[in-house]
Amino acid sequence: MDVLKKVPVREQDPKVRATNFEEVCLGYNEEEAREEASRCIQCKNPKCVKGCPVSINIPGFIKEVEEGNIEEAAKVIALSSALPAVCGRVCPQESQCEGQCIRGIKGEPVSIGKLERFVADWSREHGIVPEAPEKTNGKKVAVIGSGPSGLTCAGDLAKLGYEVTIFEALHEPGGVLTYGIPEFRLPKDGVVQPEIDNVRKLGVKIETNVIVGKSVTIDELLDEEGFQAVFIGSGAGLPMFMGIPGENANGVFSANEYLTRSNLMKAFRDDYDTPIVAGNKVAVVGGGNVAMDAARTALRLGAEVHVVYRRSEAELPARAEEVHHAKEEGIIFDLLSNPIEILTDEKGWVNGMKCIRMELGEPDASGRRRPVEVKGSEFVIDVDTVIMSLGTSPNPLISNTTKGLDINKRRCIIAEESTGKTSKEGVYAGGDAVTGAATVILAMEAGRAGARGIDEYLSARN
Ligand SMILES: Cc1cc2nc3c(=O)[nH]c(=O)nc-3n(C[C@H](O)[C@H](O)[C@H](O)COP(=O)(O)OP(=O)(O)OC[C@H]3O[C@@H](n4cnc5c(N)ncnc54)[C@H](O)[C@@H]3O)c2cc1C
Ligand code: SF4
Repeated sequence: MDVLKKVPVREQDPKVRATNFEEVCLGYNEEEAREEASRCIQCKNPKCVKGCPVSINIPGFIKEVEEGNIEEAAKVIALSSALPAVCGRVCPQESQCEGQCIRGIKGEPVSIGKLERFVADWSREHGIVPEAPEKTNGKKVAVIGSGPSGLTCAGDLAKLGYEVTIFEALHEPGGVLTYGIPEFRLPKDGVVQPEIDNVRKLGVKIETNVIVGKSVTIDELLDEEGFQAVFIGSGAGLPMFMGIPGENANGVFSANEYLTRSNLMKAFRDDYDTPIVAGNKVAVVGGGNVAMDAARTALRLGAEVHVVYRRSEAELPARAEEVHHAKEEGIIFDLLSNPIEILTDEKGWVNGMKCIRMELGEPDASGRRRPVEVKGSEFVIDVDTVIMSLGTSPNPLISNTTKGLDINKRRCIIAEESTGKTSKEGVYAGGDAVTGAATVILAMEAGRAGARGIDEYLSARN
């Protein structure tokens, strides 16, 4: 064994997986996990833990894996994370725990994410479930949204004895984990649902098909339905567009709509009737995780796919692993290119996309070099479908229907970071609804902070 290198993880062959929706990464078996765990040198001052937004005791759980005590490893992780099988798969470990791992100085960091995934999968396969509290404290809390922030907040409050009900607008719980991230990265029945079921087993009720702001308002929940506090974890699901000519053409989608059709409504499966435009040649505009997911979904539905991004490869915001997988599968990257018009045929369907070449200028406010148009460099990409993946913002429905709830210029709810407290008494918020589109683990951290804030608030009212 070369201690400088990670134990390789088994993956589906790129040519095979480009034609199916099965999970790309197959994960470690116990022997591989124990071998990888033995690479951890159990640092006295573990930098990896500082890199983890929810401060999992990483050397602690890795030690248990090394010694073959997987159930104990699961207990260590459960102290800090309610969704380990999800986080082990989708967290940007390279910029968090693994980015800080001491092993990474001379070789490859310990494969912390894959070890977390192994422990979580092992626990599920061995039927290990969290224990519900013996009795409740009789106080009711409403959670809006069943994404990672809402699930974490609800789970933490249930463990403290609160009676928690999650209200979810869609017909399935899970937020982006269910409707956004595709099956080939995050299996729904095998991974997401069992982790949601674990939250239910703590006593949390989940009511689907309830749009807060339409079916019921926050004031009604507080004043008429007997809830003593509310946590808003409603995410940032409203897609942005470029505002270029032709963007309303047939065959132009937001990545959110495209992915929701495929993931939540199962359009990729032959036994479902949900329509989806598979496209022959698809352009995905943008360079984040969402763009990679849309591109790799379109590829699996049979299209030739181009990712069109206005900066260079170094600035691609998507996780390095996702870009690597996308390239292996045959996605074409048209970098330093920006769309300026969507072209249509006489029936209004997309038949091309006019772009302009870009070059990188001085750094902008984000610290990344600003893309600047190269005059006279227009060109046309021959495509019949365009998927816009330019970011999302929070839906204003809740802020518009809740008096006294302050939002900022970007329509994000204003909330204290350490408690989730908002401008409205008894109302707490966290996750993408507060930060704008971010990550699963940051949403979980915010859910945890919200639970702490609500517990302090309701404890003080006795
Ligand atoms: C395609 C895609 C890929 C991504 N990939 C990654 C990744 O690889 N790694 C990573 O860390 N992050 C990734 N992210 C980001 C991550 O998923 C989000 O940051 C995270 O899910 C935010 O969690 P949340 O709980 O705040 O909101 P969400 O997950 O968005 O959940 C919000 C929930 O609230 C519900 N809701 C909204 N309004 C209402 C209402 N009025 N009433 C009732 N319910 C309501 C919504 O239906 C939704 O279910 C990705 C995002 C997308 C879209
Ligand atoms: S920094 Fe790396 S080697 Fe050190 S405890 Fe964390 S995982 Fe182990």
